[in-house]
Amino acid sequence: MKTHVFDAVIVGAGGAGLMAALYASRGANVAVVSKLYPTRSHTGTAQGGIGAALGNLEEDRWEWHAYDTVKGSDYLADQDAVDVLCKEAIDTVIELEHMGLPFDRLPNGRISQRRFGGHTNNETGKPVMRACHAADRTGHMILQTLYQQCIKNRVNFFDEFHVVDLIRVDDTVRGIIAYEIATGELHVFHSKAVHFATGGWGRCWDVTSNAHSLTGDGTAICLRNGVPMQDMEFFQFHPTGIYKLGILITEGVRGEGGILLNGQGERFMERYAPSIKDLASRDVVSRAIYMEIQAGRGINGQNYVHLDVRPETVNKYNELAGDPKRIDRAYIESKLPDIADFTRTYLGIDPVEEPMPIQPTAHYAMGGIPTDLDGRVLIGAEKRVLHGLYAAGECACVSVHGANRLGTNSLVDLVVFGRRSGRHIAEYCGQADLLPLPTGAGRAIQGELQRLRNGKGGMKPYELRHKMQQTMTDNVGVFRTEETMTRAIDELRRLRHDYDTKLQIDDNGQRYNTDLLEAWELGCLLELAEVTAFSARARKESRGGHAREDYPERDDAGWLKHTLCARAEDGSYSLDYKPVVLGRYEPKKRVY
Ligand SMILES: Cc1cc2nc3c(=O)[nH]c(=O)nc-3n(C[C@H](O)[C@H](O)[C@H](O)COP(=O)(O)OP(=O)(O)OC[C@H]3O[C@@H](n4cnc5c(N)ncnc54)[C@H](O)[C@@H]3O)c2cc1C
Repeated sequence: MKTHVFDAVIVGAGGAGLMAALYASRGANVAVVSKLYPTRSHTGTAQGGIGAALGNLEEDRWEWHAYDTVKGSDYLADQDAVDVLCKEAIDTVIELEHMGLPFDRLPNGRISQRRFGGHTNNETGKPVMRACHAADRTGHMILQTLYQQCIKNRVNFFDEFHVVDLIRVDDTVRGIIAYEIATGELHVFHSKAVHFATGGWGRCWDVTSNAHSLTGDGTAICLRNGVPMQDMEFFQFHPTGIYKLGILITEGVRGEGGILLNGQGERFMERYAPSIKDLASRDVVSRAIYMEIQAGRGINGQNYVHLDVRPETVNKYNELAGDPKRIDRAYIESKLPDIADFTRTYLGIDPVEEPMPIQPTAHYAMGGIPTDLDGRVLIGAEKRVLHGLYAAGECACVSVHGANRLGTNSLVDLVVFGRRSGRHIAEYCGQADLLPLPTGAGRAIQGELQRLRNGKGGMKPYELRHKMQQTMTDNVGVFRTEETMTRAIDELRRLRHDYDTKLQIDDNGQRYNTDLLEAWELGCLLELAEVTAFSARARKESRGGHAREDYPERDDAGWLKHTLCARAEDGSYSLDYKPVVLGRYEPKKRVY
């Protein structure tokens, strides 16, 4: 194995990884190790916007953003972290602008903002324009901008290196093991600090907005290395995925005035969220769509509803609401160009002429690797720091999203907490020593990859993956019960057993062996799926994205706490809990 030495290794080159790398590189020698070429990271597909209370079009305050975030989280977010998120969002967005990010502009030159679900003026309760955007390609622009800054700052990139293990000795980390995709060689990266920014794991489900690469690798690696995972039962289903395909249609469509209609042509959100209707938080809208479909009010009785952004519809409802805004084809083409392109390409539908068929799609992991406000990874309910280990972005849980994330708040999370961990890493590397590598570093994972290569049981990774995704969609989806989750856990254990004993891949080669890597990723997905179902079954209440038919109410007396799920050596799981950090906003019933 080749060995490389750096002060810090950042795993992942999405928004969180690049922001952390940029800041860490100001005080340390940094390597970014990424299985994808950096600008192919999922951050690049983020469409709608990044939330910050700039107040460029109407009055706004960071405290309103904080309240909306806490309410959106169904009061499970840690309020100290939410304050940091919303306060620092403002100067982080300005910083991105100064780095050259081409935001849409207002005639007076300021950054353009639009409405998004759950973002309100706290005094009137009406939607507020808070989402800063670059058309519907906001994430793409963030990623390009940060990548350029990292290159300028001489960050070292190891592209298409797949990280497969962490080197941990007691309460310190010493580096990572990566597999070079082009050659099949294993490399040791020896470092003082390791930062995970590996994104989400939407690929546990069948219908998802997530790219094929979103398999929760960093989260699974930390779990296997003794870090209990936080709040894994909370996974967000975005209301508007393209029917059957799951490809995301941004909430920005509703932010621009688009509305949801059922099979009877009714704007059903008026019944579920009388005040802000289609712009209620995502968990509320996804459940409403599901209930309309259950009641037989899908389009032609099928499993989907319509998202309608035709100018005639938007203008009619704006007029009814006394909103002077009117839109036309040119407006849609300029504000939602990619969405118009997707629907034309994948559905053969022009959104200016026809409504779009949509259904909820697995979208975002609220839970993950627990960290403090500087990205340091915390172990267990006692919040013990694991020295040198950091995480930020979707793989982490700081926790600002609690039980349900508001739209635009992930991009903010990436840059705010990526920046904070980058700063802390630079400081830490200034004082910490490079501790020696343990003997035999990497040998265990070498053995596991060898086992996957040589498996002879005839069971193909795609068969197992398909069964897992179906199990999760059927049993651990928008609604859950004790029975469905027990079924999922039993089935996932069987699949895990098959993975350990019967898996067989087709490619035995060294170069570009994606067959082998997908098999390894499947191991991560299977574990995270089981942790999700296991954490979810224990939580006997409904909160945010975790909706139980058998416990339909939120129960603050019993469950206003974070879940921690640990993995034992034998692969079994156990649960513990830690308190939520409360603050200014007292838990109360959520009404939109
Ligand atoms: C279609 C879509 C639209 C979205 N729109 C918005 C939006 O408008 N606003 C908003 O706030 N949020 C949005 N989100 C959510 C947001 O984009 C993501 O949560 C966020 O971009 C995740 O960023 P990240 O930096 O944590 O990880 P990612 O951008 O997912 O990057 C993960 C990185 O980790 C690397 N990696 C993973 N595993 C390994 C491994 N084993 N070894 C080495 N490298 C590895 C990958 O190569 C990649 O570079 C959207 C999400 C999707 C899917």
